Amino acid sequence: MSKQEIRKELKVSAIENGTVIDHIPAQSVFQVISILGLDHIPNQIMIGTNLESRKLKKKGIIKVSNKYFESEEINKIALVAPTATLIVIKDYTVVYKAKVEVPDSINKIVKCINPNCITNNEDIPTLFSVINKEDLLLNCHYCEKTTKKSNMRFI
Ligand SMILES: [Zn+2]
Repeated sequence: MSKQEIRKELKVSAIENGTVIDHIPAQSVFQVISILGLDHIPNQIMIGTNLESRKLKKKGIIKVSNKYFESEEINKIALVAPTATLIVIKDYTVVYKAKVEVPDSINKIVKCINPNCITNNEDIPTLFSVINKEDLLLNCHYCEKTTKKSNMRFI
């Protein structure tokens, strides 16, 4: 391993057990923290932002000790930070590493833009099909209105 690789390895595996969210666009770091509710949990969290990155101009990284994310939470990460990589660490070893992926359908985590939609008026969870993964266009299963990235609100 080159010195650079060793240094990179150390940076990532500095937690014993937990999850590292890497390659977050720098401007989305605090949004990721808030949609995952990381500001309300007692776990040790390390946050880096505006770090140098080859893939992105400036990236952010979040390391959360003793926390493994559920698929619903990973979908939220994909929606606000589609470039992010998820790294799961157990006993200082990387056991899983993959880029997050915007799913084909989204259940419960996003609000429908249409105030008259049944999901905004009755106790029915939202359900969207993702009609464009790059621009994030979500088509409501109930009212067929399209929710865009710019007006996306998380539940
Ligand atoms: Zn709707």
